[in-house]
Parts: sequence; structure tokens; C-alpha cells
Amino acid sequence: MGFNSLGLSAPILKAIEEQGYETPSPIQAQSIPAVLEGKDVMAAAQTGTGKTAGFTLPILEQLSQRQGVKGNHVRALILTPTRELAAQINDNVVNYSRHLRLRSHVVFGGVKINPQMLTLRKGVDVLVATPGRLLDLHSQNAVKFSQLEVLVLDEADRMLDMGFIRDIKKILALLPAKRQNLLFSATFSDEIRELAKGLVNNPVEISVAPANSTARTVEQSIYPADKKKKAPMLAKLIDEGNWQQVLVFSRTKHGANRLARFLNENKITAAPIHGNKSQGARTKALADFKSGAVRVLVATDIAARGIDIPQLPQVVNFDLPHVSEDYVHRIGRTGRAGETGMAISLVCADELSELKGIERLTKQVLTRKVLAGFEPTNALPETTLDTRPIKPKKPKKAKKPRTEHQDGQRSGENARGHKPQGKNRRHQGKQSQGTEQGNRGRAQTQSAASNGKPRNANSANKPQSENQKPRRRNNDSRNQSDAGNTAPRRPRRPNNQSGNRRPNNKQNPTS
Ligand code: AMP
Repeated sequence: MGFNSLGLSAPILKAIEEQGYETPSPIQAQSIPAVLEGKDVMAAAQTGTGKTAGFTLPILEQLSQRQGVKGNHVRALILTPTRELAAQINDNVVNYSRHLRLRSHVVFGGVKINPQMLTLRKGVDVLVATPGRLLDLHSQNAVKFSQLEVLVLDEADRMLDMGFIRDIKKILALLPAKRQNLLFSATFSDEIRELAKGLVNNPVEISVAPANSTARTVEQSIYPADKKKKAPMLAKLIDEGNWQQVLVFSRTKHGANRLARFLNENKITAAPIHGNKSQGARTKALADFKSGAVRVLVATDIAARGIDIPQLPQVVNFDLPHVSEDYVHRIGRTGRAGETGMAISLVCADELSELKGIERLTKQVLTRKVLAGFEPTNALPETTLDTRPIKPKKPKKAKKPRTEHQDGQRSGENARGHKPQGKNRRHQGKQSQGTEQGNRGRAQTQSAASNGKPRNANSANKPQSENQKPRRRNNDSRNQSDAGNTAPRRPRRPNNQSGNRRPNNKQNPTS
């Protein structure tokens, strides 16, 4: 089946052809007709399946049938968890709409808000946004939703993981009740289904890969390793394999910096990408990696989320993730669009429980390899497959009302893009403390509730159920991982009209 039979018009087909796409991917074949029919869609699809075109193409088709967007208005809103993903989606929208008279724009935090406000003045047909910046823009009347026709929540699972649930609910409360909703998520956990209940109506459900299954085109293996030897071991693997483009995952930001430094010192060009880097540095690192100027990109999970590098040949887990599902997301960066990829993990004895968790989730014992000269002195015990079914996680019950300062994000880079400011933030760890988001959350809860939208009216008054806890990690926060820190207490600041509430958000990946 070609794209011709899906109901897309000539200008879009021309753009698809120019992209070099010949046949629709399975998600596209299913979602394009459903979206064109105006149905709500719930799709389980990982990055790499072609899901972006799956929702973008039919949205553009629909928007192009009826022209005209009023100043400051938006007709299709695509919400994504990270800046990189937002920028990538907008690139796709620009490419696919090149022969149409539609305007698109992307907004995220960490960059100046004024140029974004200026662009929005004319109105845009498609707005790609991260939730925090979108709320800021809305609070300054720079964006209006009464003309909104379609909402897309992309990577919904990651949005929940990153603590965006409150922002999402606030946004939903601002949107017209009559609209089309498309929900894309790598997995359909109970939490996602809970979110979906208040979002999609009688949706077409699409699943192109069984949840938590790893792509078949990825060759996976592990190298048992001593912790201290991992860096030279990786350098040797890169050298011997003559790997030219390697995405390496590090659990911590400092670890990413250290490893990139080590590789550079050993004449392997490398750049770190994580939430402590400025937006400029992140963009440059990604561009250099894509162009081949840098061979190795060392990324933390949050920074790497959604990075789309077609045909990425190598992914390396320098550390295993604490959350097994993250392994599936990580290796989803390789073996994309039918290409074969290689995912290797350097595993030390301390990581045995993470390894077992991953093998249980992916239902396989990973092949072990040994690198000559790097046989571990601290042996990694053999594993056997744990075939007990994994219980679905129950949504957490609310305990007692959370206090003013407790609904901060799990991440050191919280959903609003603020950085924890406290001197001792490294040690404040699990005492999840308030963030600007949390403080403002309450201020806006009232206005959201008073909006009285039937679908979401309740949500604004349910701070406890909104506090869907992030997935439990068995780490402590000392490692300064992207996902390990919680935000420290910050003083409440007035919700002033200038909107200049975020003085130091330049270095965060999310808005
Ligand atoms: P996505 O899952 O949306 O991040 O897309 C992954 C990659 O697949 C992107 O680089 C797209 O440009 C590419 N892609 C999307 N649809 C197709 C298609 N039908 N044929 C070939 N490549 C595609």
C-alpha cells in the first residue's frame, strides 16, 4: 500500500515523496485514516515507528481543507515533553506542509519568550509546545485556544514520568470541550489509561509494537565489566569496531561529562548532552553528532528522549537504567525504520538487579560477550529468566494532603524548566520540595476550576490524584541523575503580570 490510498491530497503527497518515504509505516497506515475521519486515537508506538508523520500528516490535511487562523489563536496543538522532541516535530511539520499555506511554530522554555509571543501574534495553524512554556504564554494572553480543533499528546508516558501531569491538566482545562484528541505513548500503563479516560472519547486504539517489547532489528548484548574499567573499555570497543556514530547513555550528568572528557582525551570526539547544558550547547552537541563532527554523544535519559537520528547504528548503556522500561526506550534509538542496530550494555556486578529487571521485562537473557583484556575481576553472576508476570502498577493512593512545597518534580530539571536553587540540592534528595510550578499550580488551579469545563472541571480540584507519583526508582538522589533529584524548597513568588517568573531557566531541557 502506498501513501496515495490514505486520503491525503497532492501537496502533502508531494512533500512525502520529497522526504523519500515510499510506503506508510504500520502506525501511519492505521492512524492516518482514523485521524482523517475525525476520530480520537490512542496509539502505542515508540519513537522510530514513524508516529510523528502518523499524526502530523492527517492533521495538516484537515487544517488545509479550511484556512484561516485568528491572531494569537492555534488550530492544532502538539504537546511534547522535551525541547528536542518539540523542535524535531516542528521540523517535520515544516517539511510536510511545505506545499501548503499553513503556519506552524514551536515554543519551549529555556529561550526568550518575546520572539515566541511575536510569532504567535499572527496566529499559527500548528503549535508544537512543551507544557510549561505554553502555560506561561497563555498566562500572558499570547496564545488562545477557542479556535483549537486538535490536540496531540506525544510521548504521554514520558510526560507523566517527568511530572507534567498537573500542567497537562491545567492545559486541558483551557481547551474547548469539542476537539479531536490524539494520544501517543510508548506504553499504555495504568497511569496512561487513567489520563486517557479524561481525554479521549471512544478512541481508535492502535498498537504497532507490543508494550515493552524491544525492536527485533536491534542486536542486544552485554559486556560484564568492572565499574572503573568501563570508560577505557568503551574507548576500545569504539576503536576496534570503528564505530562512527554512538549514542551512549549515562545515568548521571556528571558521569556524562566525565565520560565525554575521557573519550576526547583518548582521541574519540564526544559531547555530553544533559540538563545542565545550555540550550545552545545542547543544540550544538546534537547538530555535531548528526553531522558526524562528533562520534559519540553521551546523554542522560531525559536529554536523549525523542532524539531522532535516522539509522543510528550503535547505542551503548554505559550504566544500566534503574527503571527497566528506560532500557527499552534507550535501545529504541537504534535499529530504526527497518535498519539493524546494535545495543550493548556495560554491566558491573553492582548492576545485577537492574539487569535482572531488564531481562524479566524484555523476556530474554541478554547475550554476554567478553572484551579481551577487560575480563571483570568482580564477576557478574549469571542470570536466569524470571518468567513471573510483572504486575501492572496500580495508581498510587493519595495519602494525606500534600503541602505547599511537596509537589515538585522528580527531576532535577523540573517540568517547568526550573533548576533547583538550593545550595545543598544534591543532598536534599527525596524530600520532594516545592517548585515554582508547585506554587503557581495552586494559583492556577483556581482559575482552571472556575473555567468550569465539564470534562476537566474535576481535575483542577484534585491535587492528590494529580500527583501521580513517578515510577519508583531504587536509586538514591546522590548520583545527580537527571531523574534523581527533587527540587528544593523555594520561596513563593508573586504571580506578577510581567510573567518574568523564571529568571534562571536557560539551562533546562524542558519548558
Ligand atoms: P518517528 O517515529 O516519527 O520519530 O520517525 C522516525 C524516523 O522515520 C524519522 O526519521 C522519519 O523521517 C522516518 N520516517 C517516518 N515515516 C517514514 C516512512 N513512511 N518511510 C520511511 N521513513 C519514515
